[in-house]
Amino acid sequence: MGRFDGKVAVITGGASGIGAAAARRFHAEGASVLLADLNLEAGEALAASLGEGRARFRKVDVASWPEVDALVADAVRAFGGLDILFNNAGIGSFANAADLAVEDWRRVIDVDLSSVFYGCKAALPALRARGGGSIINTASISGLAGDFSFAAYNAAKAGVVNLTRSVAIDHARENIRVNAVCPGPVDTPIISGINDLQGVREAWDARVPMGRFARPEEIAAVVAFLASDDASYMTGAILAVDGGVTAHTGQPD
Ligand code: NAD
Repeated sequence: MGRFDGKVAVITGGASGIGAAAARRFHAEGASVLLADLNLEAGEALAASLGEGRARFRKVDVASWPEVDALVADAVRAFGGLDILFNNAGIGSFANAADLAVEDWRRVIDVDLSSVFYGCKAALPALRARGGGSIINTASISGLAGDFSFAAYNAAKAGVVNLTRSVAIDHARENIRVNAVCPGPVDTPIISGINDLQGVREAWDARVPMGRFARPEEIAAVVAFLASDDASYMTGAILAVDGGVTAHTGQPD
C-alpha cells in the first residue's frame, strides 16, 4: 500500500529538479500525477518514463491564470479529481533593486508568487469537492531573510511564505492543509548559473552547516510527508529544509 494510492497530484515545475523528484516520489507511492512545466520535452519524457496510465504532462506557464485554471480542470477530467497540489515552478533573479529592470521584477513576481495564488485559487474548489486535500508551496530560505542581489526573488518567496499562512487559516476547517517548504541550496539547474561563478559553490558549501547542497530527492521527501496523512495536524507550517543554514546566526567559527 502506497501513502498516495488513489490520490491525484498536480506538480508545477514537474519537468526538472525538485518537481521531477516529487513527481517520481508521489508516483512511486501510488499517486496519479499531472506534471506541468514550460519544458515540453523534459516533461513529456518524465511522464512517459513513469508510465502513461498514472502520469501525464501538460505544458503550462504558471504565470498565466487561465493556463493554471485549465491545468487543474485537466487533472480533474483525466484522473477524476484532485487531492494534492505542489506549487513549485520558479525562476531565479540576480539583481539588486537599483539594477533590476521593471519587467524583470514583474516576471519574477508573476512566476514565483502570483503562480502560487493562481494554483491555490484553481485548486481549492477541486479539493473541497474531494472533502479536503493538501497544498504544498515551494518558498525558499530566501523568503525568510535577505540575500545580496536577490531583490525580486526575496520579495516573491517572502510572499509565498505569508500567502501559505493566509490560505492555510482560511481553509483549515475545510480539511485543506497548506504548507510551505523553504529549501536551502539544492543541486538543480536553477542555480547552475550561480554555481558556475568562480568560488561560489565552495563558499556555499562552507556556509551550510551540513557542508553540502541538498539532493532534490531530499526536498521531495519532505513535500511527500507534508502531502501525506502523516502530517494530518500540520497546516500553515513553513519548513526550512536547508542543512542548518537558517539555524545559524552567521557568527564566524
Ligand atoms: P529547476 O530549474 O530544476 O526547476 C524549475 C522548473 O520550473 C523548470 O522545469 C522550469 O522549466 C519550470 N518553470 C520555470 N518557469 C515556469 C513557468 N513560468 N511555468 C511553468 N514552469 C516553469 O529548479 P528547482 O531548484 O527544482 O526549482 C524548483 C523550486 O524550488 C523553485 O520555486 C525554486 O525557486 C525553489 N528553490 C530552489 C532552490 C535551489 O537551490 N535549487 C532553493 C530554494 C528554492
